[in-house]
Amino acid sequence: MEEEFVMTRMNIPYLDLKKVTAQHGEEIQKAVAEVVGSGWYLQGERVKRFEANYARYIGTKHCIGVANGLDALMLTLKAYKELGRLKEGAEILVPANTFIATVLAITENGMKPVFIDIDEETLDMDATCLGKAINERTGAMMLVHLYGRCTYHESIKQFCETNNLILIEDNAQAHGCYYQEQRTGSLGHAGCHSFYPGKNLGALGDGGAVTTNDDELAATIRAIANYGFEEKYVARWQGRNSRLDEVQAAVLDVKLTYLDDDNRRRQALARTYYTNTNKGKVRLPSFLDGGQNVYHIFPVFIERRDELQQYLKEKGIGTLIHYPIPPHLQQCYPIWNKLQLPVTERLAQQELSIPLNPTMTDEEAIYVVEALNSFQKF
Ligand SMILES: *Cc1c(COP(=O)(O)O)cnc(C)c1O
Repeated sequence: MEEEFVMTRMNIPYLDLKKVTAQHGEEIQKAVAEVVGSGWYLQGERVKRFEANYARYIGTKHCIGVANGLDALMLTLKAYKELGRLKEGAEILVPANTFIATVLAITENGMKPVFIDIDEETLDMDATCLGKAINERTGAMMLVHLYGRCTYHESIKQFCETNNLILIEDNAQAHGCYYQEQRTGSLGHAGCHSFYPGKNLGALGDGGAVTTNDDELAATIRAIANYGFEEKYVARWQGRNSRLDEVQAAVLDVKLTYLDDDNRRRQALARTYYTNTNKGKVRLPSFLDGGQNVYHIFPVFIERRDELQQYLKEKGIGTLIHYPIPPHLQQCYPIWNKLQLPVTERLAQQELSIPLNPTMTDEEAIYVVEALNSFQKF
């Protein structure tokens, strides 16, 4: 028996990037046209300007633009290795519930991810699991602000200090997020950012950055991202080519000026979801107030996830799953397939991301909530 769903049908895609870009379309077009006309496409003034602006925004001394978010993570670990501060084979604590890029950066560097299961309510790393995971080989912690939720706490800071761990933030989903007065990406020793088009701060292609207050680390990442050159044609390290380009930097500079407004809009929509969702139908993660959640993704959890997805689709609502297979269960990592991380595994079966982006109207958010609430659980 179906509860009545009386609203006029709407069509709400999960994310319409055309609409997102069109919000500031003219300014973006102008910025791109300037780069095209300038004849300078790499390693120029626009990248420098964006790096300075983004460092100021995040609150760090340095920002190094790189090719994408995976490179930001990978180059950070590589730089620590080159500097002798992390060894090959070092164990890196990482939440089991993350996008695979966080883990790829670790294994690519010959280090070992130690998967930490998460707390079902807060989605933070489970403190009990953390305590058990530490040993003399542990070198660093990767803290992932997944879904746009700040996962940094005083306890994390103390844990890393006590155990002498390097703290790296994967801030790919949390640009603009706060912990108290500080932005995520400035809380640890290095912050890694992705500007993949769908992220809160998204380019018109790939892009990424590392933010840090560490002069030596910054210089090393910058060199490794540019063939290992400390100065032109003088290779101190075995580097690679990983650059943010001038077009993306120009676009990002425009979009950065709107990021806080966009995040506030996301927060307002999220409040509508938190207030109106029937919690007997779906489970929501704990509510974080202040600026501690920038709602890159709005996850709901339900046992009959696939049915709910189909039901919402019939109502014109696009959804995605973040993520259907946790890294340790991926085919590329057979040695970890037998690990048991029950909360992460359960949530991968139950997670559904409902639409949330700054172009959405209040009416659309209400429509999504009404549709959710009309789903028959039994
Ligand atoms: C998007 C993302 C990345 C990777 O960024 P790319 O720019 O796509 O390489 C890394 N970690 C997390 C948590 C992400 O969401």
